[in-house]
Amino acid sequence: MTEKTNIAADPRERIRHVLERIREAAERSEREPKEISLIAIGKTHPEFVLKQAIEAGITDLGENRVQEAEGKIVSLGRHAARWHLVGHLQANKAKRAVALFDVIHSVDSVALARRLNRVCAEEKREELPVLIQVNLANEDTKSGITEVALPELVSVVNDCPHLRLTGLMTLPPFFEEPEKTRPFFRKLRELRDRLGAQGYFGAQRGELSMGMSHDFEVAIEEGATMVRVGTAIFGERTS
Ligand SMILES: *Cc1c(COP(=O)(O)O)cnc(C)c1O
Repeated sequence: MTEKTNIAADPRERIRHVLERIREAAERSEREPKEISLIAIGKTHPEFVLKQAIEAGITDLGENRVQEAEGKIVSLGRHAARWHLVGHLQANKAKRAVALFDVIHSVDSVALARRLNRVCAEEKREELPVLIQVNLANEDTKSGITEVALPELVSVVNDCPHLRLTGLMTLPPFFEEPEKTRPFFRKLRELRDRLGAQGYFGAQRGELSMGMSHDFEVAIEEGATMVRVGTAIFGERTS
């Protein structure tokens, strides 16, 4: 099956296919498919396609920009899906993000964590689940906190009464060969395990948000609990 399909095509078939691949990857690694949430990343795709995805059973939708997401969320409904922010969040958009999203995957600085916490207090949002984005390859072009600075950020988030640290997220360097991404996924899992052992995720094991269209199977084999899949569901992005 090719992923270069018309962007306006009904995503139903492709969702079924992605779910099947998730199930197979889970079974290969002796995991339960239900441990893995599929987050359909709808960025650049029009509302009606997202609506079709919801009708096809998608419960979690992700966007990478607050501004683009806002129109879609308002029109499809704030509670039509669980909305995930997976892209870099600018401080001046924190207030909108708190109003629009259920989960923020991209907390990447102490300043942003403190700001989100303050906005939650002002907006009377009791609790905001967040993941910390880790830039494992120290790429200048990518956001995310470095591994070295991670412990400090973890402790700040942990001290923010309105933020609940649920896990870690990464966006590894792109390789044609998905297998080359494996060491980054493994590294994120080790970091998650270490934080979990220190009690940072409470009774939970801690989420691992990792894996995209071309490498989510490798990510699942390495423990991903949230895969962020755009192209394999909605087709190529045109913008
Ligand atoms: C776009 C995007 C994805 C999905 O990428 P695909 O390759 O289209 O599956 C996942 N995560 C983030 C942070 C993204 O920006």
